[in-house]
Amino acid sequence: MSAAQESALSGAGIARYEHALMGTYGTPMRMLERGEGNFVWDADGNRYLDLLGGIAVNALGHGHPAWVKALTDQAATLAHVSNFFATAPQIALAERLLTLAEAPEGSRVFFSNSGAEANEAAFKMARKTGRDTIIAFEGGFHGRTMGALAMTHKPAIREQFGPMPAGVVFLPANDAQALRAAVAEAGDNLAAVIAEPIQGEAGVRPLDHDFLTLARELTSAAGALLILDEVQTGVARTGAWFAHQLFGVQPDVMTLAKGLGGGFPIGAVVAFGDRAGQLLGKGEHGTTFGGNPMGAATALATLDAIEQENLLVNAKTVGAHLTSRLEALEGVLEVRGEGLMLAIGLAQPQAPQIAAAAVDAGFIINPPSPDTIRLVPALTLSVAEADSFIDWFSSYLEDNPGSQDGGR
Ligand SMILES: *Cc1c(COP(=O)(O)O)cnc(C)c1O
Repeated sequence: MSAAQESALSGAGIARYEHALMGTYGTPMRMLERGEGNFVWDADGNRYLDLLGGIAVNALGHGHPAWVKALTDQAATLAHVSNFFATAPQIALAERLLTLAEAPEGSRVFFSNSGAEANEAAFKMARKTGRDTIIAFEGGFHGRTMGALAMTHKPAIREQFGPMPAGVVFLPANDAQALRAAVAEAGDNLAAVIAEPIQGEAGVRPLDHDFLTLARELTSAAGALLILDEVQTGVARTGAWFAHQLFGVQPDVMTLAKGLGGGFPIGAVVAFGDRAGQLLGKGEHGTTFGGNPMGAATALATLDAIEQENLLVNAKTVGAHLTSRLEALEGVLEVRGEGLMLAIGLAQPQAPQIAAAAVDAGFIINPPSPDTIRLVPALTLSVAEADSFIDWFSSYLEDNPGSQDGGR
């Protein structure tokens, strides 16, 4: 269905959207109404295979029965208390995350509501070391609040919001020499290095194994924190519970959000070991909603389903299948990423046109840059569902080989 054929229902909804909501996101592609499994339906009744998963959020797809039951049961039992009180789901979730992260004794968890807020807490932990310099990487994305933004390089999203919190130094990713030099220059003023193991918003660009290992060695030697932002890579996305486990590198601080609640907003900071675990003390940080029972119950249900339904294995299997079929296509330069966090590197800068054609054909995909298509579907995606997209995509590329100007 083309935009011109859109029904009055969807069109009128989007007009009201644009009238009532701030223009921070641009015009929505569609107005969505409901979801089931790996599919969503728009207001006009059209069905789409969801290969974006709410940007790596809907780990179990849409309407997963155990997730819905956990949320509704918890809502009916106890929806929210303040952090003057403890609740069983919150304690169980903290313990579970420490176990899954193989965190040593003394490790601690802090709950937030989003990825940016998790990174704000990590930023404050870096400040609490009493040191000033934080090293972050070009291409990294850590969120839109001021502390998270201060650690995010992309000029287009920072430019008009200065002055930023001070002390952040940006380096090219995977440049060992630059990292050694910057760590040496900061000396005992180095508070932290923050990195995504696989840069998501930059278009699924993994750090080199050796580079992340070097970051671990240098921060340990300097007595600084290694903060890994696993907001996108965490919670089974890459086929491991956390991406750092694929690299064999344990951070001092790990931040989580996106997939953790399976669609309910929740974030977390995992501090590894006694020192990191004790950095923020009484009164030094907090949030009203963080760790509330509904967020904790839905996160527990998400982790349970990932385990019971073997979704770590499914992410690996379906990801490998997608990778090998996509790599074989004419017009595809490379496939990057791990598990179900994948990017298709295109020979021509036609990603926006492909994404627009895909949604018309019933597939939701995402173009983070002109030559990249990102796929971060639910971890429940089947091989048959993946194939339905690849079949469409390969015939699209045959019909539209692209040109140097990116047209079709
Ligand atoms: C999405 C994302 C964030 C920001 O999370 P929000 O929940 O949008 O605040 C931070 N870091 C990474 C790596 C992300 O992908």
